[in-house]
Amino acid sequence: MSLRHGFKAEANRLAVQVRAELGLHPTSPLAPALLAEHLAIPVETFSSAIAYDELVGRLLTTECEAVSAVTVHAGPRRAIWVNDSHDLERQNSSAHHEIAHALLMHPPGPALDIRGCRHWDGEIEEEADWLAGNLLITNEAAWSIARRGTSPEEAMLQYGVSKPMLTWRMNMSGARARRVRSAS
Ligand SMILES: [Zn+2]
Repeated sequence: MSLRHGFKAEANRLAVQVRAELGLHPTSPLAPALLAEHLAIPVETFSSAIAYDELVGRLLTTECEAVSAVTVHAGPRRAIWVNDSHDLERQNSSAHHEIAHALLMHPPGPALDIRGCRHWDGEIEEEADWLAGNLLITNEAAWSIARRGTSPEEAMLQYGVSKPMLTWRMNMSGARARRVRSAS
């Protein structure tokens, strides 16, 4: 599965544009809660729903451990539910993934199958993953990390991302290649 032509550039433009709307620099970290608020999308946690929603409760158990976040649609309104039993880096990534679906105006699909597990559509999931990466670390941010020689640990903390996410964004933005070239 490959992303449609031009999507990668479009995703980075969008990630820079929403920062501008929030008065943030293109290289700034962007908390999903801040962006969700800007877009008027409520963000809830799985644990806050356990008491009264058995289905959501089940998502936290071994039955469907892989679910990180879901978007619940009610007509034109949507709400994002994040699995807060996961570590913060993963919650940031999952929340931005769900926000990306909203920014890309992906149509709501059957979010959960009969067993309460996630229903996947390869193309829109790949787009949401890609945009989520840009929302976390824009190309400009990755280039800045490379230019300043920020350590991975520092960058992970600053942008609220895991090591694999940082590595992926440094590779995909071309920042790693720049750093290697400038060091040689
Ligand atoms: Zn998704």
